Amino acid sequence: MARNRMSTDILIIGAGPAGLQAAIHAARSRLRTVLVGKVKYSGLARAHIDNYCCIDGIRRGLEFLKGGIDQAARFGAEILEEEVLDIVRGDGGFNVETDSGLEISAKTLIFATGTRKNRLGVKGESEYVGRGVSYCVECDANFFKGKKVAVIGDGSAAASGAVLLAAYAEKVYLVSEDLDVSDRLRHQLESSGVELLHGKVKEIQGGDKVERLILEESTVDVDGVFIELGQKGAVELASKIGVNIDGDGFIVTGKSQETNIPGVFAAGDVCGPPFQVAKAVGEGCVAALSAVKYLKKI
Ligand SMILES: Cc1cc2nc3c(=O)[nH]c(=O)nc-3n(C[C@H](O)[C@H](O)[C@H](O)COP(=O)(O)OP(=O)(O)OC[C@H]3O[C@@H](n4cnc5c(N)ncnc54)[C@H](O)[C@@H]3O)c2cc1C
Repeated sequence: MARNRMSTDILIIGAGPAGLQAAIHAARSRLRTVLVGKVKYSGLARAHIDNYCCIDGIRRGLEFLKGGIDQAARFGAEILEEEVLDIVRGDGGFNVETDSGLEISAKTLIFATGTRKNRLGVKGESEYVGRGVSYCVECDANFFKGKKVAVIGDGSAAASGAVLLAAYAEKVYLVSEDLDVSDRLRHQLESSGVELLHGKVKEIQGGDKVERLILEESTVDVDGVFIELGQKGAVELASKIGVNIDGDGFIVTGKSQETNIPGVFAAGDVCGPPFQVAKAVGEGCVAALSAVKYLKKI
């Protein structure tokens, strides 16, 4: 299959306040800047903001973010409403793959992926962690060779996880309430034989190990349940290229928002609390200026 390719100086992952501010500063430096992410998945998209400097009055988060997209685009940043599924180190930088199949080679990366809600919050979930319930397809797929599994989630993390699991498990169900993935991932789900189930999960049941998943209107017999909510998490993506993650699952950065991997920076909630727009914006600015400085020295 023919694949689309592009290259950039700075690739920002995430369309929240941290990523948008990074895009504004990076694009104004006249280096090629690409931002991959969807505003609707920013933590701020669901919120109102009343404590951001110089904006007096309550503003809808989504409106605030849309202003940031227009502003970043006006300075020349290319905004791609996609999700990053994979990153590997390449010659002189990093190769990134998105859910549409686009391959982007980038000299520097800025992680601005926010925090990720991992837990489903249903009965049986905590009880069966490590006994059939997993939060990482890449880590645990091998344990389910020839078994029946369900993957739960609406986004690219769940869909790509289900496709990967289909190479191991005898049967894979993808359980979602509102599946929102690219056409490419939909085709992959179909061709790998993943069965789509629509519905809300009520409970995970079993004996010593997971045995079944209770949905609102049906029951499915499974040996494993993979909870993959949202998009591909920063922890998986960043740790794959060797970025240090702390014990609480946040990316470790220094004063210039640099990580331990040269050319990789991070900003915002992904670096840890306090979870505030003002902090995210400040760190986004610093990360972009550091990436520019790094590239000019290269
Ligand atoms: C209900 C609520 C109320 C809040 N109220 C306030 C408030 O009053 N004041 C305040 O200062 N803060 C508030 N916050 C916190 C604030 O929203 C966050 O601190 C802020 O949004 C963090 O910005 P961020 O850019 O780091 O992450 P986010 O805004 O969460 O953005 C993360 C971005 O990364 C993208 N992303 C993740 N994974 C991938 C991937 N694999 N590929 C591509 N893109 C990816 C997401 O789609 C999203 O675009 C509130 C948050 C919530 C949820």
